[in-house]
Amino acid sequence: MIAEVALNVPLRRTFDYRLPPAEAERVLPGSRVIVPFGSRVRAGVVVGLKAHSELPEARLKDVQRGTGAAALFSPELLEFTRWVADYYFCGWGEVLEAALPSGMNVRFRTHFRWREGPPPPEVLAGLSAQAGAALLELEAWDAGQWARLAQGPADERWLWRQVRPGGLLELSYEYAGTKAKPRTERWVRLSGEPVPEPLGRRNVKRETRRERILRLLREEGPQPMAHLRALMSEPGAVVRQLAEAGLVAVEDRTLRRRPGAATPPAEPFLALNGEQAAAFAALREALHDAAGGGGYQGFLLEGVTGSGKTEVYLHAVREARALGKSCLLLVPEIALTATMVNRFRSRFGDDVAVLHSGMGEGERFDEWSRVREGRARIVIGARSAVFAPLEDLGLVVVDEEHDGSYKQDESPRYHGRDAAMLRASRSGAVVVLGSATPSMESLRNVALGKLTRLHLASRVEARPLPPVQMLDLRTMPRQAGCAFFTVPLVEALRETLARGEQAILFLNRRGFASLARCGACGEVVLCEQCSISLTYHRSDNRLLCHRCDYSRPMPERCPACDAEALAVVGMGTERIEQDVGVMFPSARVLRMDSDTLRRRGELERMMDAIRERRYDIIIGTQVLSKGHDFPFITLVGAVLADVSLNIADFRAPERTFQILTQMAGRAGRGERPGRVLIQTYSPEHYSLVHVQSHDTRAFAAEEATIREASGSPPYSSQALVWASSPQQGAAERLAGQLARGLRHAAQGRGDVRVLGAAEAPIQRLAGRWRWMILLRAASVAPIHRVLRAVLDDPAFKVGAKERVAVDVDPYSLL
Ligand code: ADP
Ligand code: ZN
Repeated sequence: MIAEVALNVPLRRTFDYRLPPAEAERVLPGSRVIVPFGSRVRAGVVVGLKAHSELPEARLKDVQRGTGAAALFSPELLEFTRWVADYYFCGWGEVLEAALPSGMNVRFRTHFRWREGPPPPEVLAGLSAQAGAALLELEAWDAGQWARLAQGPADERWLWRQVRPGGLLELSYEYAGTKAKPRTERWVRLSGEPVPEPLGRRNVKRETRRERILRLLREEGPQPMAHLRALMSEPGAVVRQLAEAGLVAVEDRTLRRRPGAATPPAEPFLALNGEQAAAFAALREALHDAAGGGGYQGFLLEGVTGSGKTEVYLHAVREARALGKSCLLLVPEIALTATMVNRFRSRFGDDVAVLHSGMGEGERFDEWSRVREGRARIVIGARSAVFAPLEDLGLVVVDEEHDGSYKQDESPRYHGRDAAMLRASRSGAVVVLGSATPSMESLRNVALGKLTRLHLASRVEARPLPPVQMLDLRTMPRQAGCAFFTVPLVEALRETLARGEQAILFLNRRGFASLARCGACGEVVLCEQCSISLTYHRSDNRLLCHRCDYSRPMPERCPACDAEALAVVGMGTERIEQDVGVMFPSARVLRMDSDTLRRRGELERMMDAIRERRYDIIIGTQVLSKGHDFPFITLVGAVLADVSLNIADFRAPERTFQILTQMAGRAGRGERPGRVLIQTYSPEHYSLVHVQSHDTRAFAAEEATIREASGSPPYSSQALVWASSPQQGAAERLAGQLARGLRHAAQGRGDVRVLGAAEAPIQRLAGRWRWMILLRAASVAPIHRVLRAVLDDPAFKVGAKERVAVDVDPYSLL
């Protein structure tokens, strides 16, 4: 038997391995195997079994072992992940890996062993005396021991030299299971055999431990070992004797680690208002059609902020469950708070499983297992939950479908919404994309008839949308001493505080100042790894790169000319926090950005604190904009709307419109009306003008004209090919070679335009020089053909340090 195995490597092919008869029993399509690959071993997923391989017998290696009889992937998921890999032009194994919770990653223990026994001491000259002496005492050691012995980089280099062919050491890897395992608890129960007397006599004081255990089991049923241990000293030996005598049985029971608190109290479904009811009626009909074999239908639920989209989802999920179908609900990671989850749990209880990366690995493993085993049939999760092992899918909901975080920015670069639509269509399920500010892609799909539009035009209980006012930073008077604030914004804050209400100040840039510049020579301090300026963070007086991990203390002198003239320029949320503190010293201020949201659970704590009105002014980046319901916010101020507008990307206006409309949607969701003030240098820009009128349709119409004229998506399909290298020249050469190849391949393969190669806007990132090539065509199929012709050609090779990455339907062109 031959197993076809997908490995988590960036290669677009699978690998054949011989399946030894001993392993064949625990290997199925969809199960995991350990295989040799290159000089080491790896875990892969069996994607097929076959009788013969194309490879010559001599080149076939054996599967080292299976990892358990259960298939991790159903045939449906195998096929779906394969489609995702094909579409996004990456390795199947990479997608399979992304589809599993991280706690299921396979681990290996690394072992080193002398090939021919310990060598004479003089051979170890390259090694520190301490490590050398210790190794001579050992036959073999593992990576953990080595970490304690090695004295520095010279020792490390010595070790890795010796494991090469001809070296002194042999390297081996031992399969060490997965990190996350089911948590179990040991229980004791009666085995059913008659228990001999003396038990009738109830002299509890004189009972032996043996008698006591038997009595407990008889009177109170099975007991956890932990309980017995609390009652008496060392019950283990007694239980063992009883088990040997056949009187009791010991078993491990699986415990469930739950994300978040216990199930919230049940809540009734709300009566839908007219618009909600009309939307739900359409979904209901589609769900019944689909359940009757009618197949896939797609909807765009366009509803202004606070119009009650979630209640419509809840009703649709109930309907799908009543039809015996399972449901998948995707939300942006940051919107996946306890509040959101509780809304579902309070209606559907333990039928709901939650999957996202903010959870502990154990919890995530348990939730995934519940889904896999069919014990939970409603999944709420972030992007990667699109791969949840649900069977019999009936409904897929993608909330805030416009959100850019659905696109993964590392391989596999899939889009959660688009993958969800595909999964729904393959499963014959109903898909609902929800948003107050739909993406241009989804609006285009409505125009093409691929999605049916459902509309919620007003907020629940007819609450008004807040008025939006532009504050022109070119002309508006500024607050003395706090030049980033116009006088009207400060006035509005003052009034809001005086009424005891809450305000949000939004600025999509963290840190204190956007850059540090020398007043003498004009030099801007750049990242050492990237060609972008460093951001000043005052809390730790450091300069940080927002693209890689680099940071350095704020220098006293200019690194270029040594003058003591470095000044910080621009602003971020830290700076706004400081200014607000100066203007309103008694206000309770909360800052929410990725610097203050580091710890797990922090977002939830902050959300609760805002809802409990423990803060007056909340300063934050776009983490604030996603689907949160705060009833006491009456003022939303955007400190500088232009931040997202001035990005060299054709989606910048769309993003600006979406984020400001979503921010504005946080105001006036409770009983008191809200208002929105937007500070900007470009109040006449069309994306801002339409924010003012809350007019998604008008914005989309104007944006569509521009996109169509320039041939941008959704009026075309695109793919980016990135070439990068630590050496500038090598990256440029590779990009040039690729561009020529792609251009050549484009001839006669449909109307594919190849633009570039060009330097990336961020030319150097994390130490690598980057070039890009843009492919554009009317649809994605010819782009795929061109990419395949060049990149899948066995003759195409890149150097060890060079890298080629493909991004189909890219969201970031930086
Ligand atoms: P959206 O997701 O569209 O912004 P939500 O679903 O968060 O809006 O709903 C906003 C608020 O309105 C929530 O507090 C929700 O409980 C409430 N709500 C939704 N539907 C109804 C309804 N039919 N009757 C009363 N209140 C509702
Ligand atoms: Zn950097």
